[in-house]
Amino acid sequence: MSTVLLSGKALARIIQQKAHQEARDLEADGLRPTLAVVVATDDGSTHWYVRSIERAAESAGISCRIVDLGPDATGQVLASVLKGLSDDSSVNGIILQTPLPLGVRTDELVAHIDLEKDVDGANPLSLGRLAVGQPSFAPATARAVIEILDHFDIPLAGRNVVVIGRSAVVGKPLSLLLLERDAAVTVCHSKSGPLEKYTKTADVVVVAAGRAGLLNGGHVSSEAVVIDVGTNVLPDGSLVGDVDEGSVRGIVAALTPVPGGVGSVTTSLLLLHTTEAARNQSRVLVPGAAG
Ligand code: NAP
Repeated sequence: MSTVLLSGKALARIIQQKAHQEARDLEADGLRPTLAVVVATDDGSTHWYVRSIERAAESAGISCRIVDLGPDATGQVLASVLKGLSDDSSVNGIILQTPLPLGVRTDELVAHIDLEKDVDGANPLSLGRLAVGQPSFAPATARAVIEILDHFDIPLAGRNVVVIGRSAVVGKPLSLLLLERDAAVTVCHSKSGPLEKYTKTADVVVVAAGRAGLLNGGHVSSEAVVIDVGTNVLPDGSLVGDVDEGSVRGIVAALTPVPGGVGSVTTSLLLLHTTEAARNQSRVLVPGAAG
């Protein structure tokens, strides 16, 4: 069987254009949406990623403020910067970029991000809201998976979907979004036992483990749709996902590539969330304004 490659690039462009249109509409109302990205590392690939967000934001008419605190920033400094940005009415969206300096607790820091500005769904309260169906921003990567499945008309209601990975940023929020869409969801992790026990009968498998080559052709059925969230940098500098692409291609019905799959959609969703946040905040500032 030939495997269809589900590229995220066209969808990313559509979402980016939507964000740009929203930004233009906000500008017409006298508002320029602004995204703040807080960084505290000297990791080169993180800085490369942050620059790519900055470029995408600027080209969508969104201001991007990089707050680079350097690799020695303390938890106290980070907390006070996040509180300051949360109180700053000129900032609409906030992202705290990982990795953080050793010993700094990400889970404690993200609690300082104002929920209305939490465009990457990092605050634990955003996850709680998602769990009970209250308005909140889902982590952009989790939402990107749903957007890709929808874009390619892959049904979810009543389908058997396996998510590999249970982190608070990908696996858990994604499983909530899938439940919301009436999928039958199984979440696997490092202690759930042999993957094939779950994945062999899955209609959709989403892999978000950060383990290159974790899912191979022996794990999946020929009707499966495989979404690869993983990003792993190999010693030669190349980027691969969690799927052993060579062994899965020709077996499964469809597969997202890495790069060019989930990652590209994630960035454009961060921008869209920023414009949505700006619009929501403008409604709070001017009661009764904007429809
Ligand atoms: P994480 O916090 O390290 O979580 C990894 C999860 O995978 C954990 O739940 C872990 O299980 C599970 N796992 C690890 N090895 C496993 C195995 N052998 N079998 C089954 N499950 C296993 O990572 P994350 O932040 O969720 O990110 C996951 C991947 O997605 C990474 O490669 C990351 O770079 C990528 N990512 C991509 C994007 C994007 O936009 N494309 C965005 C965010 C993350 P335990 O809980 O039992 O430890």
